[in-house]
Amino acid sequence: MMQTQIDWLSTYTDDTPGVTRLLYSRSWCEARSALMDWMTALGMHVYEDAVGNVFGRVEGRSPEVILTGSHLDSVAHGGRFDGAAGVIASILSVARAAENGTPDYTLEVVVFCEEEGSRFPYACLGSHYVAGNVGPDVLEKTVDADGISMEKARKTAGITGHIEQNARTDIRRFMELHIEQGGILEHEGCAVGLVESIVGQRRMYIDVTGTANHAGTTPMDLRSDAMEASASMMSRMAAEARRRGAPLTATVGEMQVSPNTVNVIPGHVRFSLDFRHPEEEALASFQEWVEQTFSDTAAHYGASISFDVFMKEAPTPMDHVMTGELESFCQNEQLSCRRMHSGAGHDAQVLGRITATALLFVPSWEGISHSPEEYTEPEALEAGLTLMTNALISWAYTTKEVLT
Ligand SMILES: [Zn+2]
Repeated sequence: MMQTQIDWLSTYTDDTPGVTRLLYSRSWCEARSALMDWMTALGMHVYEDAVGNVFGRVEGRSPEVILTGSHLDSVAHGGRFDGAAGVIASILSVARAAENGTPDYTLEVVVFCEEEGSRFPYACLGSHYVAGNVGPDVLEKTVDADGISMEKARKTAGITGHIEQNARTDIRRFMELHIEQGGILEHEGCAVGLVESIVGQRRMYIDVTGTANHAGTTPMDLRSDAMEASASMMSRMAAEARRRGAPLTATVGEMQVSPNTVNVIPGHVRFSLDFRHPEEEALASFQEWVEQTFSDTAAHYGASISFDVFMKEAPTPMDHVMTGELESFCQNEQLSCRRMHSGAGHDAQVLGRITATALLFVPSWEGISHSPEEYTEPEALEAGLTLMTNALISWAYTTKEVLT
């Protein structure tokens, strides 16, 4: 069932190969309508909010909500499973749980409008809106590569509700299923990953300024080569990251060299650094090491250096009670599972700051994601669905007499 519905959703794409379903695009609008029709047919009360998140609700005795969902959008030429697996699992698990009659707590599916940040430079729009982090200014000032504002694109997609910056306060618990996007579960033969923490991330630009000069007439001991200094920084940084060990990751992914000419000593190099770890102290300590070591290295090469930290995302722990319960549901179903952290950001990270949240992973074939090659075995998808269904039944159908 999971595989069939995931394949069906993947037909809503603006381009091939793979899935290209960017926020407020034609395929995004059509996929969203199709999901709304499907949830309506399953007997849910379907509604949308002003940014285009869609909800499918099964009213319980209490208005407090057990929410589950993931995101509808994809990267350009992404896979069938990223986001979609969680959306389909949420719809099916809520529908299956609701077969037990009126729940004590309200069950709700959320199809987040946007998570990837692939059309607009703003990731997790859907969950940030639910968490009350998005006002009208964000939609007005965020533009895509064609200069179209998010607000204009939203209206063009026929979504016209009034943007209000209010966090939902009725969500008791949130659960997201997502593909792992790494190879650990497959490597260890585990059916399910239970995420204990989503890593914090810091991103910075480093500007190294030396002196541009003739490559042939400037002796090696009389030059201030911004590239030589930068190369030394990068190799020392990678060695230090390996020395500190997992789960720290550190990546230089972007570099600009000036004048970028074969016979001129580089006078200026700008490079990026992305580093991640599930603990804030580890991030702070690594940043301190980087700034100290890079400054010393720059001085050694007679270069100057500056740092621009443009992203500081705190690690988000998942709810340990929910995670523990999911672990025992795995044992009940004889599903092998392991605890892990998530090296990628997710909607669960945003929801985790406003409510008790759990994130579970199903294996990604060869760890591949954001690619048409993305694949998860049908049996693994069904295992995830079973786990979610059991969790929703346990959380929404309670025998406790606390409800009025
Ligand atoms: Zn995703």
